Amino acid sequence: MEFINGLYENPKPLTLQEAKDTNLRDILLMRYRVCVVCKKNFDITNEGIFYRCCK
Ligand SMILES: [Zn+2]
Repeated sequence: MEFINGLYENPKPLTLQEAKDTNLRDILLMRYRVCVVCKKNFDITNEGIFYRCCK
């Protein structure tokens, strides 16, 4: 997996649970994530915080 500008370019957006299940040490370094609230995929470089894109 490529590591660019401090984030992993994960090919598939990860949910928080998937990130935990994969036992990723750096779950906050995944660029593409699935929002825990609205379940949409998002890019942390564009919006959002932690594993949510909305309020
Ligand atoms: Zn959201």
